[in-house]
Amino acid sequence: MGNSSKHVCGICNQTKEDGIHIYQLYICRVCEEEILSIHPKDDNYQYYVEKMRAINQITYTI
Ligand SMILES: [Zn+2]
Repeated sequence: MGNSSKHVCGICNQTKEDGIHIYQLYICRVCEEEILSIHPKDDNYQYYVEKMRAINQITYTI
């Protein structure tokens, strides 16, 4: 209780144990691999780019 290392992924909004923090956002391993393997031509690429942009804007305001 209160001792969990789980975080809510900022991309898929699911609670995961494995993942990384990029700026203020937690990204689970699944989404991390998704981002790394995605091609700019894919439709999802724009979705992730928007997410990352949002993170940057949050960071700049701190
Ligand atoms: Zn995720």
